[in-house]
Amino acid sequence: MNKYDIVIIGSGLGGLKTAYILAKEGLSVCVLEQGDQFGGAIQNFKREGVVFDTGAHYVGALDQGQLLHRFFNYFDLNSRVNVKRLDQDCFDKISFGDDDKQYAHAMGFDNFTEKISLAFPKEREIVSRYAKDVKKMGDAFPLFNMSATSAVEEVGKYTKTSLSDYISSLTPNKRLQNVFLGSNLLYTGEENKTPLYVHGLITNSYIQSSYRFVGGSGQLAEFLIDSIRSFGGIVLKKKKVVKLNMKGSRISHAETDEGEVFFADHFISNVHPKPTFEMLPADITKKVYFRRVSSIENTVSVFSLYIVFKKNKFKYLNYNVYHHRNNDVWTSKKYNLSDWPKSLLFLTQPPENGGEFADGATVMSLMNYSEFEKWEGTEIEKRPDDYNELKRIREERLLDFVEERFPGIRESIQSVYSSTPLTYKDYTATAEGAIYGVTRDFNAQSRNAIMTNTKVPNLYLTGQNVNLHGVLGVGVGALMTASKFLGMDYLLKKMSDGE
Ligand SMILES: Cc1cc2nc3c(=O)[nH]c(=O)nc-3n(C[C@H](O)[C@H](O)[C@H](O)COP(=O)(O)OP(=O)(O)OC[C@H]3O[C@@H](n4cnc5c(N)ncnc54)[C@H](O)[C@@H]3O)c2cc1C
Repeated sequence: MNKYDIVIIGSGLGGLKTAYILAKEGLSVCVLEQGDQFGGAIQNFKREGVVFDTGAHYVGALDQGQLLHRFFNYFDLNSRVNVKRLDQDCFDKISFGDDDKQYAHAMGFDNFTEKISLAFPKEREIVSRYAKDVKKMGDAFPLFNMSATSAVEEVGKYTKTSLSDYISSLTPNKRLQNVFLGSNLLYTGEENKTPLYVHGLITNSYIQSSYRFVGGSGQLAEFLIDSIRSFGGIVLKKKKVVKLNMKGSRISHAETDEGEVFFADHFISNVHPKPTFEMLPADITKKVYFRRVSSIENTVSVFSLYIVFKKNKFKYLNYNVYHHRNNDVWTSKKYNLSDWPKSLLFLTQPPENGGEFADGATVMSLMNYSEFEKWEGTEIEKRPDDYNELKRIREERLLDFVEERFPGIRESIQSVYSSTPLTYKDYTATAEGAIYGVTRDFNAQSRNAIMTNTKVPNLYLTGQNVNLHGVLGVGVGALMTASKFLGMDYLLKKMSDGE
């Protein structure tokens, strides 16, 4: 009989990091992944020899002593992953269709202030205040500063304030506001909804330092799995969990679509909460808690282009480009189709040979799941013609917008591939292909809060829906979930000892 201390459903970054912590501490762990590739949103794929990332294109706080570096030490990743530091003076370049200027987000809080102030000399004080506030937010949050205790009042200020109120209180200058918010796609900030802390913690990490993965972020999954197995853990693919069977009030075993069963004392789901709860018996999930969590609104989805360049045609850019059609960077699910795309993120894949030309680029633009929803249930690579036709139309639209930012780029392009919100949903089982899982809303802090424990005593959650999305956010979430078994003070000490 397959019997473990802990079964983890899903091998996304959240599932693997949680499994690593628990297996390293001697618990018997089994990770079950539905797909035929591990990693969830951090899977890589190759087209014409070029490696592309699906999610996790760049990460922050990876300089020695910074938070992700400390995590990566604990996860034995620093010496193994191949990363490239982005340009110190411009890791994100922000531009607007109606403005010839381009604005640099630079690493280091003082440097950030200097570079933005060059473009807004009269607003230097405001820029400096913004940079100081963002720094303070990172320092205030427990776990983001490797401590279990928080400055409660300070944290409350950032969770209960809306990002839009904060930004407009800084300055009436819309262009400067939008430069601060230029990398909005990183957290899908919505006006009058997104809490200040979401923007603060994420931008804080990138201003500390920004890095790209050379050869794709899938390396993270590969190395974590090697380690989990070396600790005696089991990691299996093509095991789609469809049922969590109960004995009394507790789950006794997980059952796959092929009828295989896995018994454990505890179960941790790395899957979005809605499909997780659908695995439980229906009489349990009628309760208010399950209905509340399942109905939390999701973030918008994403349409991505994967560009293969002709040889030696397009220079590698050691920064990310965020381009906005006009002076409005907010994410909106109520967009007019004729206005799409409103914003894009363009990044070149770092050449593995270190050369000056890029082999490929990825372009992302936010898109509602509803645009491709009617083809739900059709099989990847066997979708009907009308699906492929709409996909092609959206590809062209996005490419036209890329060309507005990089005139003549089409001449450097050899081929273009794309993925839709449905592709993302089918690869990760994330409800509505939500790019970052559930939405954070400062108006509904307690209603939308997802804890690591659930109302089933031996079912826990991990991944981007608890805590925060992203390589860093999911790491903090894994720590929170694993602490239920091992204690937070103990784990924090272990992590600090590694640095
Ligand atoms: C387009 C895009 C760009 C991004 N860019 C960045 C970035 O630049 N930097 C950054 O830090 N973050 C980025 N992110 C966010 C980051 O990638 C995610 O927050 C993180 O990888 C999510 O990890 P997770 O473990 O929570 O979930 P997932 O990766 O969604 O993992 C869930 C796993 O569960 C599996 N699963 C689902 N159902 C079942 C089942 N029934 N049985 C078994 N297994 C199941 C899925 O197949 C999947 O492997 C990006 C995300 C996207 C989508």
